[in-house]
Amino acid sequence: MIAAATLTTTLKEYFGYDTFRPLQKEIITSVFEGNDNLVIMPTGGGKSICYQLPAILLEGITIVISPLIALMKDQVDGLTTNGIAAAYLNSSQTQQEQQEIFSKIDHGDIKLLYTAPESLSFLEYIFNSQKISLIAIDEAHCISSWGHDFRPAYTNLGYLKKRFPEVPMIALTATADKATREDIANQLNIPNAQQHIASFDRKNLRLEVRPANDRIKQIIQFIENRPNESGIIYCLSRKSTESVAEKLKNANINAVAYHAGIGHEFRSKIQEDFINDTCQVICATVAFGMGIDKSNVRWVIHYNLPKNIEGYYQEIGRAGRDGLPSDTILFHSYGDVIQLQKFAESSGNVEVQLAKLERMKEYADALSCRRKILLSYFGELISENCGNCDVCTNPPQFFDGTVIAQKALSAVARVKGQEPIGTVIDILRGAQNSTIYDKGYQALKTYGIAKDIAWLDWKQYITQLINQGYLEIAFHERNTLKLTDFAKDVLFNGQKVALANLVEAEKVLEEKKKK
Ligand code: ADP
Ligand code: ZN
Repeated sequence: MIAAATLTTTLKEYFGYDTFRPLQKEIITSVFEGNDNLVIMPTGGGKSICYQLPAILLEGITIVISPLIALMKDQVDGLTTNGIAAAYLNSSQTQQEQQEIFSKIDHGDIKLLYTAPESLSFLEYIFNSQKISLIAIDEAHCISSWGHDFRPAYTNLGYLKKRFPEVPMIALTATADKATREDIANQLNIPNAQQHIASFDRKNLRLEVRPANDRIKQIIQFIENRPNESGIIYCLSRKSTESVAEKLKNANINAVAYHAGIGHEFRSKIQEDFINDTCQVICATVAFGMGIDKSNVRWVIHYNLPKNIEGYYQEIGRAGRDGLPSDTILFHSYGDVIQLQKFAESSGNVEVQLAKLERMKEYADALSCRRKILLSYFGELISENCGNCDVCTNPPQFFDGTVIAQKALSAVARVKGQEPIGTVIDILRGAQNSTIYDKGYQALKTYGIAKDIAWLDWKQYITQLINQGYLEIAFHERNTLKLTDFAKDVLFNGQKVALANLVEAEKVLEEKKKK
């Protein structure tokens, strides 16, 4: 056991902070108990300290595996400035540079060593030289092909636990739905890891979706109303980052394009200018932002629809890390949906990618509190509407949809959560097709209990039930619908459900499209 006072003093001495953020202390304590740990925390939540602080106090050397080679130098410089003996080893270094690090390791002069998943062979050397106190896997979702940022090199990390079974491991990520989370633990061979899941709610972020008409005009107006606030505009392609930046510059806005095709040196300069507030607006592909530590980004705009909710949430999470109110706007265009569908169809794992895109689209079309949708996507259910999204502040008309909800939920219950949305609707509507007859669903009590509601209307209602957290889609089980704990309240405890009027809903959507 480690004394709580020691942790607090170390936090103050090396990082300058007086108190721990939520979960940090319990994670660190668990590391000291020798457990494997899986940490799910939103961007900006403070994951790094969860392994950096133990690294300082534990005997030996902590290895940090990170995909962000480009950022290692900055991270290590930051740590060294704080008096922490850190270094990195990767393939971008000369042999001499590597030799110098090895010699420091041999002398026990390194407490924290960053390396890339491609460079694991270094570990054998370190293991023979020093005690390895902890292995930290940063951006751990990269190991899962179910995540949104799969990196083949990460698949090698599964062997670490087998090779160094006695070394505790800590895996950290900002993005993981329940299934990805389990996949990470399995792939890393740490099935018994303690899971620490921080709340993903970022109350200070206002959520807004707008139709994509006249995007540039809307954006210019938005920025002109905030002359001293900096922000990021995410675009789908390199080309559009450049054209958007160009149009903003023509409107006398201090904007610059940023993408992976820009030279390394120039990219660092852009990052610096942005951090120092000499550049107000960055028009970027998703390449921008990983590891950028700027706390006063006041807004994030998505010029295009993101391809899934994980990515979207991570990107808007770069706004308002200081906790002050910040705006996020997502521009929704059906053209984007079609393009993203094509991307998804040419990717690996087509079905999962398409289902995730579908959820993204439903979020954009949503008629209920957007924050509820986001959080329920990450398995976090909130009962109150947030009051800080465009649907909450400008809601559609609702009616008492309890009976409709009960019918849908009991249909899902009768098939034991083993069917996707289409089959559930077919059951409710008493369809006569081979799936129904093959599985004998015509004998279910719920068969044909709601023929009066059209198929597409059912789709809308069930989507609303998903968005309100009564149902969830199991992406990795053929997109089958599952009941959530909320659903049980509706089925057994008389909980009422409000649904948006479909006629009303159509109107709202039409209005939005016109605007
Ligand atoms: P993540 O890796 O989860 O995105 P970081 O570890 O980069 O987050 O931390 C985000 C920011 O919060 C950093 O500027 C970090 O210094 C700061 N931070 C972390 N822990 C604390 C704390 N206990 N008190 C105050 N600030 C903290
Ligand atoms: Zn809301």
